[in-house]
Amino acid sequence: MDAVVATGAVTVDPMTPIPFRITRVIREIPGVYTWHLKSLDGKPFHYRPGQFNMVYQFGVGEIPVSISGDCRDPDTLVHTIRAVGPVTNAMQQLRAGTVVGIRGPFGRPWPIDEVVGSDIIFVTSTIGLAPLRGLIYEVLHRRQDFGKVIICYGTRGTDDIMYEDDLHPLAGTVRYERTSDRSFRPQRLSRPCRRRCRGHTCRASRLGFDNCLCMPIGGADASGGRYAG
Ligand SMILES: Cc1cc2nc3c(=O)[nH]c(=O)nc-3n(C[C@H](O)[C@H](O)[C@H](O)COP(=O)(O)OP(=O)(O)OC[C@H]3O[C@@H](n4cnc5c(N)ncnc54)[C@H](O)[C@@H]3O)c2cc1C
Repeated sequence: MDAVVATGAVTVDPMTPIPFRITRVIREIPGVYTWHLKSLDGKPFHYRPGQFNMVYQFGVGEIPVSISGDCRDPDTLVHTIRAVGPVTNAMQQLRAGTVVGIRGPFGRPWPIDEVVGSDIIFVTSTIGLAPLRGLIYEVLHRRQDFGKVIICYGTRGTDDIMYEDDLHPLAGTVRYERTSDRSFRPQRLSRPCRRRCRGHTCRASRLGFDNCLCMPIGGADASGGRYAG
């Protein structure tokens, strides 16, 4: 594991959990929940998109979890967790007000400065959006630094779409078009996406997703806010 990156992290000793209080619990989709946390001592938590924390439920266990919030809001730490086993299932029972332990941030941030001037395509699915959300926020903050920005997001159905009400208002200029039912026909995957992606014919579908969301992010987007396929 990488050492703590020198981003002004609250952690002094990377082996010592810092107490954070869960201030909000959001049930995202079945089995997936998001916590908003604040440090008990009120200190900001500085990190970069792509990093993760070790999250400790006292008396239960500790797991690595990506940071899913906006790094420009260091007063609120955000984690999205899928319940898959003993620790994550126990954490799912926790309510706002509970104190957990945080060690971090760990890991190398996304090298966002190395892609300034480039187009950016995010391809992910379901909870895979969680570790990318912080990077998406940062790209939106620096929208003028990039060309086209496209998020291709695959889901199995309409009930496993993450952050549906979150990213779009944030972006302001995002177009959000999707097909998320199970009725689409595989043969349609051979058709390339047109300028108006309806999800069911886009190229990301051909990567193997059952369904796909394409969220072109406008601003300097030469496609006029529409995914150009
Ligand atoms: C760097 C890093 C970042 C991570 N970020 C996140 C995150 O943002 N959100 C999140 O929910 N998880 C994330 N994970 C995965 C998370 O750490 C594990 O899901 C967690 O450790 C499981 O602990 P557990 O005790 O509940 O289950 P375990 O007993 O560890 O696992 C129970 C069963 O579930 C399986 N399993 C474990 N993890 C997953 C998974 N992710 N999906 C499907 N099956 C799995 C195991 O193979 C095992 O069979 C991250 C892991 C790493 C290494």
